[in-house]
Amino acid sequence: MSRTLLLKNATVVATMDDEQREIADGAVFITDNRITAVGPTAELPTDADQVIDLSGHVLMPGLVNTHHHMFQSLTRALPAAQNAELFDWLSALFPVWGNITPEMMTVSAQTSMAELMLSGCTTAADHAYFYVNGSRLEDNLEAAHRLGMRYHGVRGAITLGHSQGGLPPDHVVERDEDAVLKEMQRVVETHHDRADDAMIRVALGPSSPFTVSPDLMRQSAVLARDLGVLMHTHTAENAKDLAFSQERYGMTPAQFAEETGWVGDDVWHAHCVHLDDHGIKLFGRTGTGVAHCPCSNMRLASGIAPIRKMLDHDVKVGLGVDGTASNDGNDLLGEARQAMLVARVRHEDPTAMSAREALWLATRGGARVLGRDDNIGRLAPGYCADLIAFDLNDIAYAGGQIDPLASLLFSAPRRVAYSIINGRTVVDQGRLTPIELPALVEQHNRLARQLVDG
Ligand code: ZN
Repeated sequence: MSRTLLLKNATVVATMDDEQREIADGAVFITDNRITAVGPTAELPTDADQVIDLSGHVLMPGLVNTHHHMFQSLTRALPAAQNAELFDWLSALFPVWGNITPEMMTVSAQTSMAELMLSGCTTAADHAYFYVNGSRLEDNLEAAHRLGMRYHGVRGAITLGHSQGGLPPDHVVERDEDAVLKEMQRVVETHHDRADDAMIRVALGPSSPFTVSPDLMRQSAVLARDLGVLMHTHTAENAKDLAFSQERYGMTPAQFAEETGWVGDDVWHAHCVHLDDHGIKLFGRTGTGVAHCPCSNMRLASGIAPIRKMLDHDVKVGLGVDGTASNDGNDLLGEARQAMLVARVRHEDPTAMSAREALWLATRGGARVLGRDDNIGRLAPGYCADLIAFDLNDIAYAGGQIDPLASLLFSAPRRVAYSIINGRTVVDQGRLTPIELPALVEQHNRLARQLVDG
């Protein structure tokens, strides 16, 4: 038996469809996990198994996060990593992360997802590259199942220890790259769902040129294409990253990506703060995606990515909060606001990015980067029922009612009033329904303390 849900009377429904329609007094009708109708409330059916009155709310597609490391919620605000650039920051954190347990992976993923969902995120890509003490991607998948989040688990890896010229200490890397490739294949074959309404997808993701061998970059690209899954890594994040690429490989990061097979419609790169003009054109021409993470790039003093230029060259761009130890939040709506602000700073141009463009990147942009433009990221019949609503009666929006949609970014970021993922209400009147937050926070804090105390 089908189950129906009607969301009606929304002050505005921002569809993010190709016409960018914004429907006043709008409604969305959902049957099971799919959107079946979108339009003015007066034109939609009036009856459903459940009806939610969204008077005084903005309704829009759920936000898509294209880059994260969820385990890092365990080490937010670690004093030794508070004032460090990327390489020093990693060097301070790697030894601490070396004590992470499978339980810590699951609980930190639950924490990250819970906060993400409250910020409007309904789909998240998690670049999980750190495996010690028996941890596996399954630890994170358990959290996704529990929270009901649409989850793209990137089976990452770091394999190049300090003795081999890499950045991480030897004892935290997976030294056997053949075993890493086998494990990548196993998790794809076990968990990757090719259905267009998939809740779980798997991608492959050696962490970065300074933490794995070029051979693993090449071989994982071949494997991903054999298996028909996407590929993800970190690229051109800061000045030391560029210097490493030049000194060790005699190439720019974009040249290195091209040389190892890491460009194409099935690839997305995090950061690209220092992607040069050749790289921008290359990525645009080849359909290579970028995960823009402005907060992390500011926090680590990496720079500001040339997103306006990338968009002007047809580069696919989505937003990412990045790991929780460099953001230090799981707030995707806040990230959209930061994307709008830093684009203006970089170009000293108030038209460099509008609020609507930032929200487009957070929805359609992310869906495109994750290869899901035909099933998430917009409100249209046939699309997955991933929707969020913000309560315009919140004090943050007071005075912004002349343009409710834009007011979401021209204000301090607020939590959602409702979030529906795959047809299931996971935030109901501001309350996260799949898990008890106080107990989760208590458990998370206990484990984080245990981790830092070693
Ligand atoms: Zn990252």
